[in-house]
Amino acid sequence: MSAYIVFFGPPGCGKGTQASKIKDELGLAQISTGELFRKHLSQQTPLGLEAQKYMSKGALVPDEITIGMVRERLQEPDAHQGAIFDGFPRTGAQAQALDQLLDEMGADLCMVVDFKLPIEESRRRLMGRQEGRADDKPEVIEKRLNDHAAVEASVMPHYRARPGLIKDVDARGTIDEIYQTVRALVKTCLD
Ligand code: ADP
Repeated sequence: MSAYIVFFGPPGCGKGTQASKIKDELGLAQISTGELFRKHLSQQTPLGLEAQKYMSKGALVPDEITIGMVRERLQEPDAHQGAIFDGFPRTGAQAQALDQLLDEMGADLCMVVDFKLPIEESRRRLMGRQEGRADDKPEVIEKRLNDHAAVEASVMPHYRARPGLIKDVDARGTIDEIYQTVRALVKTCLD
């Protein structure tokens, strides 16, 4: 059994919050590329310092760096039975690389959960976020929001080619309401 699942959605849709709850309850690893970059940066690793050049502008970190980091993360023991990818893939090349990485592990992607949230609601949530993230400045938020359509256009066609893989989730409810839906979906990958 291996449950590898992509959580996809605009900034502020809550996919990180939901992935963290799934990790706590169901024990799947949470592989958040944004969190991994922030962790590298807080430790001032070369990778973190390089990534920061892009993150501070709201730009994507180059594929090579991002994919290499995910490859390493997947080798950690907690990811051997499954993982939620949160914020990855964000480009077509990353989506292809993920297929290949899973294939090398003898695993398959079970599901893509597509969190649906109107852009005005994403903006409202990000503007109100109090985590003090360096990239939560208004102009950087605007760029991340505007770029999301392009991210979607490069990633989702890759998955639409596989009927039934994508599950849409309305991300406008409360955290607990959304969690009930997400949890039920994720559980189907664990059976
Ligand atoms: P959000 O979804 O709220 O924008 P994340 O924490 O997922 O925040 O990502 C923060 C930043 O980290 C992105 O704006 C980008 O610079 C970088 N990043 C995260 N994931 C990726 C990825 N898969 N590819 C390239 N850059 C990424």
